[in-house]
Amino acid sequence: MATVVFVHAHPDDEALLTAGTMRGLKEKGHRVVVVMATNGEAGLSEISNYTDLGNIRKRELEKSARILGVSETYFLNFRDSGLDGKAQATTSTLCQATVEEIAEQISAILKIENAQLVVGYDSQGGYGHPDHIQIHKAVIAAAKLANTQVVANATVDRQTIAKLLDYIRLIIKIGPLKDLASLADGFTPRADITHTIDISQWTGFKRASMRAHGSQRVGGTTIRTLQVFSNLPSKIFNRAFHFEWFEVVTNNGANPLDDLPVK
Ligand SMILES: [Zn+2]
Repeated sequence: MATVVFVHAHPDDEALLTAGTMRGLKEKGHRVVVVMATNGEAGLSEISNYTDLGNIRKRELEKSARILGVSETYFLNFRDSGLDGKAQATTSTLCQATVEEIAEQISAILKIENAQLVVGYDSQGGYGHPDHIQIHKAVIAAAKLANTQVVANATVDRQTIAKLLDYIRLIIKIGPLKDLASLADGFTPRADITHTIDISQWTGFKRASMRAHGSQRVGGTTIRTLQVFSNLPSKIFNRAFHFEWFEVVTNNGANPLDDLPVK
């Protein structure tokens, strides 16, 4: 049994990127820990008050973590920088903080938890969110400080996502999802992916985790990604979301991801 620490930027990122893998690791006997860097206060929502939204999204994350069997959740309480990196905030946003400062906090947790594997984001920050790029850099630096044996980027296979979005659009007959428009150029080319985890046994948990983030399923004027995804009919959801992708970037010991079924 090993401890795996997933570092995420905003509540709901764990649902979209790593929920099935988290549940799978737990069921294989590993201890799963989440570090949440911000409370997602800049997320689109019907709730416009920054602090209120942050508190609601924290609770949503806790609910999602319970569904996924997470043993411990740490909040770093940086402010969400917003998609353009310019969200108004009275305290330091994740992008205003230095990589060193964030890395130190993460490395302290990696040491306390004696983490075998730490999971961050790919170098593009997925679809290019400045907070995700910041987490990518901070996790790499934190793993060095804590001497964590295995480091992986949670990502998406770039080729798959374009197909997936076409498929979903076809099924539910909607136009382009505004917040996903740039996905095809982001994330990671297939050749760099080391682990395509088959999460078919855990897709129900992934959907429940998405649904835990109620504040992100309504609000704003555009169709929300999470709303669309989590309401897909089961058969389609299971087909669309039966993989999660990782790129192992440091590999100096046993990798808990190797215990999970792969494509
Ligand atoms: Zn995010």
